[in-house]
Amino acid sequence: MFDLAEIETLRKSLDTLAKGFSDLPDFGPDHDYAAIGAVLNEAAKKMQENFPYHHPLYAGQMLKPPHPVARLAYAMSLWLNPNNHALDGGIASSAMEKECIANLGSMFGWEKPLGHICGGGTMANLEALWVAGRLHPGKKIVASEQTHYTHARISDVLSLAFDEAAVSADGRMDVDSLEKLLSNGDVGTVVVTLGTTGVGAIDPLPEILGLRDKHEFRIHVDAAYGGYFHIASKLGANARRAFDRIREVDSIVIDPHKHGLQPYGCGCILFCDPAVGNLYKHDSPYTYFTSDDLHLGEISLECSRAGASAVALWATQKLLPMNPGGDFARSLDKCLLAARALWQRLDQSDSFKCLMMPEIDIVVYAANGDDITDSSRNAREIFARAATQNLHLALIELPTNMARHYWPELTGDEETITCLRSCLMKPEHLDWIEQIFSTLETSAKS
Ligand SMILES: *Cc1c(COP(=O)(O)O)cnc(C)c1O
Repeated sequence: MFDLAEIETLRKSLDTLAKGFSDLPDFGPDHDYAAIGAVLNEAAKKMQENFPYHHPLYAGQMLKPPHPVARLAYAMSLWLNPNNHALDGGIASSAMEKECIANLGSMFGWEKPLGHICGGGTMANLEALWVAGRLHPGKKIVASEQTHYTHARISDVLSLAFDEAAVSADGRMDVDSLEKLLSNGDVGTVVVTLGTTGVGAIDPLPEILGLRDKHEFRIHVDAAYGGYFHIASKLGANARRAFDRIREVDSIVIDPHKHGLQPYGCGCILFCDPAVGNLYKHDSPYTYFTSDDLHLGEISLECSRAGASAVALWATQKLLPMNPGGDFARSLDKCLLAARALWQRLDQSDSFKCLMMPEIDIVVYAANGDDITDSSRNAREIFARAATQNLHLALIELPTNMARHYWPELTGDEETITCLRSCLMKPEHLDWIEQIFSTLETSAKS
């Protein structure tokens, strides 16, 4: 779990950091490290209770350990604790953040996006929908039934009407259902999810872009989870077509703390048109003093933010550039392959009923059973039994008609069915598929 070389690497970088401040008069706050150590050990004991997110046998929710370079860069910068709200708080880390934004923008094909890091995907989507509401006041936000649940809540916070387009059995937005909503003329913005949180579906962006020729609306892409797969080389045809046209949308959310190897507190909003920055104008009497340059706080809703997030992301992009074919892209390909491999193994098993083929690295599968109630119960039991063998899964409640498309003989009237769900976010998962599958089989049969 932990390599001593990592601590040694951190110490060296801290020496370098300290050299930058060595001309200051000596100042030594006096800390009681025995007391600190005792409390720290107590905290570490409590942390033993967490699920082992870093291990390949954790194959449940969207949890992925940060890369050591991100962890170390974050930790190193904490000795200063920069605040990227304003240049007073973080000169260097603000410049790093701007570089990170430029890199993420160019990954999607944007030359001069406006954007910044924020607390996570929810905050990033809040900014996107806030801008959407300012540009189309009084008009609706539309997303799919499988969109992240926070879009409805964010719309509520912003007092914007929100509506849902239906999805097809594979979880993608149904274009006919969307067009029906658009024909009312009151839709300002469509949220297109590239990689839904539940099943990893890729909404049909090319068709939705086609509708924009007939009906005028903004497109916001929520790629909080799926965004980095843009540079993967092993996407299926549908996902590839969608990502190939991502540059044509108005705004994009991507979460570096999901697939970008970052510690939490790192979401990102990008706007194609930098002129939306004007919407953020305000007159704060106390924030900006040291420079006339653009402060990140002038283009974000949040004020104080961890500059450490920017330092960590910058270091990660430096070590692992987001090039198609590079190490980072290849690690994403392994996740795609792992998901397909698990899906195929499960599809051959009598104990499980596979749902949609994974478009990214999320596999959703039902437990075999006599009817919906029995299948749902079996899924919950497999979930619990697997955990006793250190295999950690997730559960998902899906509309029954989604499952029935893949399992036509399924009987029962319940509206939803409990299925199993595995996010195979770690490239190491690829080498652990047989082990994961055999534990699933024993958990299903015992
Ligand atoms: C995770 C996720 C979010 C929310 O992001 P947080 O970083 O958890 O706030 C929004 N949309 C999608 C598609 C997500 O997967």
